[in-house]
Order: sequence, then C-alpha cells, then structure tokens
Amino acid sequence: MLRITINCPFCKIKEMGFRIIYLEENLVFDRRYFIGSAICLNKNCKMPVGFKGLSRNHLNMWKINEKMNAISEHLFDEFVKLISIWPTPEGPNIPEHLPETLKELFEEAEHVRLSGPIAARIAIGAYRSVLDAALLPLAEKNEIKVTEKMRSGNDRYKLISDLADKDILPKPIKEWLGSNGIRTLLTSGSHGTSKFSPEQADEIAQITRLILIYLFELPGRVAAEREKFEASRKEAEAERLIEE
Ligand SMILES: [Zn+2]
Repeated sequence: MLRITINCPFCKIKEMGFRIIYLEENLVFDRRYFIGSAICLNKNCKMPVGFKGLSRNHLNMWKINEKMNAISEHLFDEFVKLISIWPTPEGPNIPEHLPETLKELFEEAEHVRLSGPIAARIAIGAYRSVLDAALLPLAEKNEIKVTEKMRSGNDRYKLISDLADKDILPKPIKEWLGSNGIRTLLTSGSHGTSKFSPEQADEIAQITRLILIYLFELPGRVAAEREKFEASRKEAEAERLIEE
C-alpha cells in the first residue's frame, strides 16, 4: 500500500497516514511533479484529500516508477515533498486588534484545538479562559454584578447573558449559548471530566472568536478605516487650498 503522511483537514489528526488511491506524474523540465488523491487511514474519518508533490530525489523516484508495488512498505513521503493539499488543513484563525494578553490566550487555544481531536476537552478549557479574560473586566467596567460563581467559571452563561442584556454583547450570541447542549460547554466545575467532541471544541472556538471580533476587531477596524479616510480627506482639502 502506497502511503503518504498529512495533517488531516477533516479529523485533524496530525501526521496521519493516508492511502494513495490515484497518482499521476508530470515532468516539467527536469522536475518531477506528482498529483494524486489519498484516503485518511483513520477508520472514523476515511475522507479523501488531493495533493501535489515534488520528487525529492530522481534516483529514488526511478525506483518507484519501475517497481511501484515493490515499494509498498515504504512511505511515499520519503521520496516526495508535499507542495499543497486540498482542502488546506485549517490553521489558527485569530481576530485582529486584540489586546496582547487575549491574543496570546486565543492563539494558545487555537493551537491546542488544531493539535488533534484528542485535545478537545483541553481546548474547550482554553477557550473558557479566553472568555473569562475578555468578559470579566468588561462586566466590572459596566457595573454588572460579578458573583463568585461567575469569577470561578461556574456561571459563564449568566455573565454573557447579563452583558447581552446591557447590549454590550449581541443578543443572538446569548440565544446561541442558551440553546440545548451549549451551556455545558461553558461551565467548568462538575463537567471538568466530561468527554467533548472536536465539533464541540470547534463550536466554542467560533463563539469565542465572534465575541472577540465584536468586542475588539470591529471597533479596531472602524477606528483604522475612519482614520484612513479622514487622512485622505485632509490631504484632498490641503491640495484644494493650494490650488485656490
Ligand atoms: Zn482524517
């Protein structure tokens, strides 16, 4: 079986083995390119990817071409350097204009989540820390009563719901979090040992990301865009004054 090692874009397992099911060779000048497709060897995944690679070593590639079946014990990626994979495995997606501490915390959470499905529970804990770091000071600043339960991470839903009631967070976020099965994602405490799926980690990641976009990226972008347009308006006015 001809295999290749890829970070699976679907089950997110790093350096996962894929079975090559199609392979096409292209000679461009003296470079040997490969285009192929392969299936994830994780039994619960089995999703296909496309890939493009470049031969690392012509001599070895000749051996492959002559005895495709004979090298079944070898990994294809010993001979081929991957150039691209379709679909592209997800990378960290961090909102702009975040304060430094929040950026670091969110980056950490993204790296944990993308490290593989086994880390879902740890990733969820990491996003909860991001939410606490972003929302607790905001609640205090806006004279929302921060209870001991909120501070210890056992009442994040109430914290978010209070912020939404004061229009500091969008109401649809509160509605999303209030729907079935999401609240447990938010609560540490007794759920500390609960099992979570990678999809649940993706969901809390997206909720956290949207909250940060609303609180920091959007105002930051508005300020930056406004500044840009004001600067060009001033420039235009100055030019008009010179012309007059
Ligand atoms: Zn997979």
